[in-house]
Amino acid sequence: MRQEPSLSLDKTAIMDAEGNHTAPVYAKRKVVAVRGQGALLWDIDGKEYIDCMAGYGTTIVGHSHPVVVEAAKAQAEKLIACHASLYNDTRAQYVSKLIKVTPQGLTSVFLSNSGGEAVEAAIKLARKYTKKRGIIAMMRSFHGKTMGALSTTWDAKYRSPFEPLVPGVTFVPYGKPDRVRDAINDGTAAIIVEPIQGEGGVHVAPEGYLKQLREIADEKGALLIFDEIQTGFARTGKLFALEHWQVVPDVLCLAKSAGSGLPLGITVSRPEIMSSLRVGEHSSTFGGNPLVCAAASATLDVIFEERLWEKAGSLGEYFRMRLGELGERLAVIREIRGLGLMVGVETRFEANRIVGMMLDRGVIMLTAGANVLRFLPSAAITPAQIDTVVRHLEDSFRQLSMEKSPPQP
Ligand SMILES: *Cc1c(COP(=O)(O)O)cnc(C)c1O
Repeated sequence: MRQEPSLSLDKTAIMDAEGNHTAPVYAKRKVVAVRGQGALLWDIDGKEYIDCMAGYGTTIVGHSHPVVVEAAKAQAEKLIACHASLYNDTRAQYVSKLIKVTPQGLTSVFLSNSGGEAVEAAIKLARKYTKKRGIIAMMRSFHGKTMGALSTTWDAKYRSPFEPLVPGVTFVPYGKPDRVRDAINDGTAAIIVEPIQGEGGVHVAPEGYLKQLREIADEKGALLIFDEIQTGFARTGKLFALEHWQVVPDVLCLAKSAGSGLPLGITVSRPEIMSSLRVGEHSSTFGGNPLVCAAASATLDVIFEERLWEKAGSLGEYFRMRLGELGERLAVIREIRGLGLMVGVETRFEANRIVGMMLDRGVIMLTAGANVLRFLPSAAITPAQIDTVVRHLEDSFRQLSMEKSPPQP
C-alpha cells in the first residue's frame, strides 16, 4: 500500500490532536482515514475498507471521482472565493443545470453550506411567504442541529439541553396523515417531512402519505417542505426520492450528495415563494462559492452520465436481496428497510456493537438508532463488495449470537 509522504503526524499524534483539541461531540472510531477511491477507503496503516458510510452519505459518485476532482482543481486555480453579491460563471452554470432537473416548478435556489442551513432557509422562507409561524414536523425526524433546524428535529437528546428552541413546532407521528390533519391550523406555515427518514431508522413513507400531506397543505395554505438532504441526488434509485410517489413539495432541501463531499446546502422553491425574501433578509458568506459549485456541477454531470439513480436502485435491490437471504439463514434480522442505496437493517442486537465489529473486518458503516444498522455506500460499490459486506455481517451476527447464548454443557 502506498505510504502518505506528506503526513508529518503519526497515527497517535493525529488521534491525540483531534481527541484532545476538538469538541468531544463525535463518537469517534479509531480509524485515521487518509485516502478514498470509489467505494473504498484506506487508513494511515494502509488497511482497506469498504466504505458504507461514504462521508455520511455525501459521496454518491464515489470518493474522489476523477471528473469531480478535475473540475475542483481547475476551478481552484481560477477562482475560489466569490461572494454571491457578485455574479460568477461557474455558479450560474451550476444553478442552470440544477433547475433543469429539479421537480416541476421548483426553479429558484438558495445556496448555503450544509443540510442544517438548507433547512434554516426553508423555515425562514415558509414564515416569510405565508406570514404564519407554526411548523408541523414528524416524530423520529432529523433536520439538523443548528437552532432552527434542531427545533424541527425530534430526538429529545439533541433538543432538550438547548431549549428554548424556535417556538411553534408541533410533532406528529410519521406516516399518519390524519394526525397532521388534526394538528394543522390557520397559523401553520409549513409541514416538514423526509420522504424517507434517515437518522430516525430508515423508514420509507407509506404509500399515499406524501400525496395526502400535499392535499392537506394546499387546503390550509401551508407550505410543504421535503427534506431530501440524505435521499437526494440518486441515492434512493431516483434523482430525488419524491419521484417514487410523484409528489412535488413547495420547498425542497438538499445537501449531502450534492457536492460529493464539498460543503453545499440547497434550498429550492417556486420563484414566487423565493421572491418573498427581500435583499438582506437571508444570506451566506460562503454559499454558492465557485469551488463548491464546480464540484457540484461535475457531480451532476457524473450522476447523469452514469445514470447513477439506476445503479443505486439495482445495487440497493441486490443488497436487500442478499440481506434477505442472510435473514433466512440466521434469525437475527427483524426488518430490512429503505430504497436504493439507503439500506436499514433492524436487528435484535445493539447496532453500535456490530458497527465496531464490522470496522475490525474492514467495513465502515452507520447506525440509525439503537437497533438499526445503516448502509449509505456510494453507487461505485460493486455486487462483489456487497457480498463481502453481507458475509462480514453474517460473521458478526454469528459471533454475537454465540456470545449471547453460550453452548449448553
Ligand atoms: C444530514 C441531514 C441533515 C443535516 O445536515 P448537516 O449538513 O449535518 O447540517 C438534515 N436533514 C437530513 C434528512 C439529514 O440527513
